[in-house]
Amino acid sequence: ATPTAVMVATGVGANNGVLIKGGDALERAQMVKYVIFDKTGTLTQGKATVTTAKVFTGMDRGEFLTLVASAEASSEHPIGKAIVGYARHFHFFDESSATNSTQEDAKDFKSGWLFEVADFSALPGSGVQCFIDGKRILVGNRKLMVESGINIPEHVENFVVELEESAKTGILVACDDILTGVLGVADPLKREASVVIEGLQKMGVTPVMVTGDNWRTARAVAKEVGIQDVRAEVMPAGKADVVRSFQNDGSTVAMVGDGINDSPALAASDVGMAIGAGTDIAIEAADYVLMRNNLEDVITAIDLSRKTFSRIR
Ligand code: ADP
Ligand code: MG
Repeated sequence: ATPTAVMVATGVGANNGVLIKGGDALERAQMVKYVIFDKTGTLTQGKATVTTAKVFTGMDRGEFLTLVASAEASSEHPIGKAIVGYARHFHFFDESSATNSTQEDAKDFKSGWLFEVADFSALPGSGVQCFIDGKRILVGNRKLMVESGINIPEHVENFVVELEESAKTGILVACDDILTGVLGVADPLKREASVVIEGLQKMGVTPVMVTGDNWRTARAVAKEVGIQDVRAEVMPAGKADVVRSFQNDGSTVAMVGDGINDSPALAASDVGMAIGAGTDIAIEAADYVLMRNNLEDVITAIDLSRKTFSRIR
């Protein structure tokens, strides 16, 4: 393609909310064989919603929710924000409205009702840890509990499995090293997700899903959206390894993601596509930015490249 054709294509992309950082990226997209999608915030809306909260010890329900919200108050993860929104609704409205709250609701709350937190740390791909009243609080996935030496009783495990089989994520809470409760978090698929997956397959492109979430939830979501190839329980650095494994035979690989945890994979891919609503770090690491946050633009981007570069052959 001539420099003019590249310029025109870049302009067409921009008019459709597809920002392309350079002619090389535009050229590589035509050859994409695999598109690896992050799950949370990419295939799903990233508007996590708490659907259930269960306390397994004698702890008061209100106290439990305040405890978990306090631990998550500094978290930027959709799950953390959803939990804060849920607890806030529980305290200031009622629990039925809490079920409808999303991370959006966490933005405007006054923090006076939260417990004082010491030594907060976000553990990407696992959860959060902090200390409240001298006690260690852990909020996160099964792996976080196991690695922290927390025993998961069988009836708790059964409850988590039940959540996961219905495509929800189980978030476990330990207070003072005792498994105290579990929250169920749902994150609906983007409306266009299934159609886009089908469209890619028709174009001869294989979609793959990669996620830090657990295998059971990942499989349930992949089935819903129509993706056969799933990689779950992948830590942020591992996502880049997944990209490389698909590049091994010389295939051109696109990665679509929104989070900090996706940026190594976006950088490793041949065609990194960041969701415009995603974190700045992901946007920086990507070759494409999908400003409309619509997955249809993955197809738009590949089409644009194919059209631009087929003309000169
Ligand atoms: P994804 O790859 O799907 O975007 P992440 O790598 O961000 O997922 O997170 C993987 C898992 O780690 C989540 O499904 C959740 O179980 C756990 N997790 C991460 N951050 C948090 C948090 N702030 N609170 C609770 N759990 C978390
Ligand atoms: Mg994500």
